[in-house]
Order: sequence, then C-alpha cells, then structure tokens
Amino acid sequence: NSQLNGAYTFENYIEGDCNRLARSAGYAVANKPGTTSFNPLMIYGGVGLGKTHLVQAIGNQIKNSNPEKFVLYVSSEKFVNQFIESLKTNNVQDFANFYLLVDILIIDDVQFLSGKEKTQEMFFHIFNHLHQSGKQIVMTSDCPPRDLKGLEERLLSRFKWGLTADLQSPDFETRMAIIHKKMQSDGIDIPDNVVEYLAYSVDTNVRELEGVLISLIAQSSLNRKEIDLELAKQALKHIIEDVETEVNLDFIQKTVAEYFQVSLDSLKAKTRKKEIVTARQVAMYFAKEFTSHSLKSIGYHFGGRDHSTVIHSVQTVSDLIDTDKKFKASIQELQKKFKSKAG
Ligand code: ADP
Ligand code: MG
Repeated sequence: NSQLNGAYTFENYIEGDCNRLARSAGYAVANKPGTTSFNPLMIYGGVGLGKTHLVQAIGNQIKNSNPEKFVLYVSSEKFVNQFIESLKTNNVQDFANFYLLVDILIIDDVQFLSGKEKTQEMFFHIFNHLHQSGKQIVMTSDCPPRDLKGLEERLLSRFKWGLTADLQSPDFETRMAIIHKKMQSDGIDIPDNVVEYLAYSVDTNVRELEGVLISLIAQSSLNRKEIDLELAKQALKHIIEDVETEVNLDFIQKTVAEYFQVSLDSLKAKTRKKEIVTARQVAMYFAKEFTSHSLKSIGYHFGGRDHSTVIHSVQTVSDLIDTDKKFKASIQELQKKFKSKAG
C-alpha cells in the first residue's frame, strides 16, 4: 500500500508564481525519479499552501507510469510512530528492511522529526541507502531546512544535496483559478462577483479558501438560497471570525460613515463629493491601520478602486493630520473607538 491519495494530481494543481519552481521541479522528478539532480527534492512552505498535494501528485504520477515501482508516501509523524512501535516490539530490523525496499520515498512534514534523535539516526541510514541506490527521495517541511531546529547537522546537509523549493501564498489570479477549478470539479456554479469577492478576501492559504467554499456551498443548500454576495459574506464570517479582530472592514466603514454623516453606500460609490471623498479616504486609512487587508483588497472593498488610490488616500489623510488641527482631533476620536474595540 503506497498511502497515496489519487485525488491529488498535477492536473488539478493550479500553477502560479507562488509555486512555479516547486511545481516544475516536482514534475521533473515525477517523470524521471532518481535520475535528475533534484534528489532529494525538498518542498517547504506554510500550512495549507499545497505541500502535501504536490508531493502526492508526484507519487501518483510515478505510480501511474511505473506500476512496478514501490512508491511510498508517509508522514513523518507516522514514520516516528512506526519506529517507536518497532523498538517496543523488537522489530527495528524489519522496520529498516521495509524502508530499504522503497523506490520512491515521499516523507511529509519532516519538521516533525525534530528532537527525535533515534528516529533521525534511522532516517539517516535509510536516506543514505536509498540515495546511493539512485532511489528518489521527496520531502516537505514547514520551513526552510536552515531553520529546522532540532535536526542533526549531517541530516540537514544531505537535504541540501538536491533541490529546495518553496511554496508562497497564492496571488489573486491563482486564487481565482483555484476557485474556478474547484467549481468545475464539484460541478457548482458561483457568480463571477462572488468568485472575485472570495479571491480578494481569503488571501492566506488554499486550505482556508477551500474551507470558505465548502461552507458557502453548505449554507446555500441548507438555506435553499442561491449563492450570492450576501451568502458569501456570511460564509466568510463563519470561517474567519476567530482570526479577524472585531475591527473589520465592515465596522470601519460603518463607523466612519456615521461619524461623517454620509451613507455607507456612498463610501463604495463613484461619487467625488468633497465630504464623501474625505470620509472614504479616512475609512481607507483606518482599514490600512486596523486590518490585515492588502491595499488591493481595501481598494476592492471601496467600490473597486485600485491600490494606488488607497495609497493616495492614506497619504492624504496623513498630510491632513499634520496640517489641520481640527481634522487631527476627528481622527483621534475615531481612532479611540477602534482601539477600544480592538482591545
Ligand atoms: P499543506 O500540506 O502545505 O498544508 P495541502 O497540500 O494539504 O497543504 O493543501 C491544502 C488544500 O489546498 C488541499 O485541498 C489542496 O488540494 C489545495 N491546494 C493547495 N495548493 C493548490 C493548488 N496550487 N491548486 C489546487 N489546489 C491546491
Ligand atoms: Mg500537508
């Protein structure tokens, strides 16, 4: 049993700037395991960025074109547990022999080996043997090898023999593509404005993006409601409630609109009336200060403006604070409201 999950393929792994090197190195390894200079191949990146998907895709591709090869996927956690078990039952030799038979060893989340000296010793032995026999080794880690604490130097130095490639957070276009791919494979329809809203709002990692999609689809069928922007906003709340502070974009827009006595809609509209422009700029200024939204995302939530407009707004407000005492007082008053809410 190879422990591979056939659902993870290259075909459904969206390519973007965030993963281009890792993906193409993975693809090369999948087509010529053990014979490229990418041995070992080490993929690293934060949680939910697609490490497991990518290395599983490598395994599946090799398995499909070389059914006779022994491809093994194992999480480091499982590797450790199996090793401990073999110690307890006096089967260490069997444990080693099993791994020495593998043609392609994919070992996920090696940061988990940290501090486990005996397991590392065993892994070192297996690694050397496989590498010398021209077998492919693929690894993932949640940080670059140089930052792996509690791993033996001789192991780390071997990790550097091959290629190390990182996965970054997906950019906006890649997030759009991932949503479209997901819609296609699940056979669901989501209006364009909702796809765009989701891609703008969930910019942390792919797993979270998928989580929001699942929640959205569930809510749509539970409430027997078509998927629309309102439902998407609800779904987003459920998912990111606990990570977002109380001072979110909605709150900032409402508070600022009230303070300047303009309508909430006008902040997002095209109008250039002076009092509205000022309120809008102030709201953008606070969005930048109190939320983790990117400039691009802030612009989007203010009626689809681009990031340079946001930069300009923030600059204008800063200048006014320096030159206009009355304005400065208003800003400080608003700031107090946000600070107390942020806790
Ligand atoms: P990690 O192992 O880095 O924590 P995963 O590989 O488990 O992340 O990815 C999390 C989810 O995101 C999975 O469902 C995976 O299929 C999906 N995913 C990640 N990157 C991509 C991508 N580039 N294209 C399509 N789906 C992706
Ligand atoms: Mg993983």
